[in-house]
Amino acid sequence: MFTLLIILVVVSTSCNGAPSLRIFENSPENVARLQNLQPGDLAEELSGQFEGDMILTDEQYLELFRRNGMIANKYRWPENTVYYEIEEEYFTEGQINYILTAMRTIERASCVRFRPRDPNNPDYIRVHGDGSGCSATVGHIGGSQSIKLQPYELDQGCFRMGSIIHEFIHALGFRHMQSTYNRDEYVQIEWENIQPGTEHNFLLYEADKVSNFGTEYDYGSIMHYSSTAFSINKQKTIVPLKPTKETMGQRVAMSEKDIFKINRMYNCFLKGATT
Ligand SMILES: [Zn+2]
Repeated sequence: MFTLLIILVVVSTSCNGAPSLRIFENSPENVARLQNLQPGDLAEELSGQFEGDMILTDEQYLELFRRNGMIANKYRWPENTVYYEIEEEYFTEGQINYILTAMRTIERASCVRFRPRDPNNPDYIRVHGDGSGCSATVGHIGGSQSIKLQPYELDQGCFRMGSIIHEFIHALGFRHMQSTYNRDEYVQIEWENIQPGTEHNFLLYEADKVSNFGTEYDYGSIMHYSSTAFSINKQKTIVPLKPTKETMGQRVAMSEKDIFKINRMYNCFLKGATT
């Protein structure tokens, strides 16, 4: 299954010492679906990147081959501060306001701070509007990083507020909920319903590389896939094994556990800096 991924790598950029990125070209099928989203479709699952919407560095990607990828301290933004620049020419004023509101929402819930790009700091997130679907680099990796948000009407596709927040949480250093090491205790993956060739999107990370930061598995995480992610037949690919009232794949708001984990990752509790 990895062979296919390697073949599909079309762009790998590296300049000024910034890490090279594994960027995949989106498939025509996904591009067509992104132009005609159906109820329940999540644009970030149709964006053609690893697990749908994560742009990995070469190092992060190769770590996966060793079943070994995740969130070392080096992937956290120094001093809880994320610098950003928005490619405003691609977005309407309303879309820019949604991007800013997503950042403010994370700020209000944590000690993470978003600041406009600082010429003295080479590391920042560039918010692009010219890609297919929505995607993000994962954690602080240095240089110019990306969040890609295909412009949609507000509250649709990549411009659902929850989807924008989802991408920013990737940029802080989080991967998808259902990839965590103990997920098989909480969900069943229905492999026969998964599109052939996309099984890699359901890999697990090892316990010493990913952390749930002391919280239980969270069906209601804004970082969880929908129950029909990568389905070939509209049947479920992820089925909860425990009773839950939460909706997998919700993009309404961060869950309490999402907020807790961001605060733990960035040591906000120790700093007493939450507001
Ligand atoms: Zn994602």
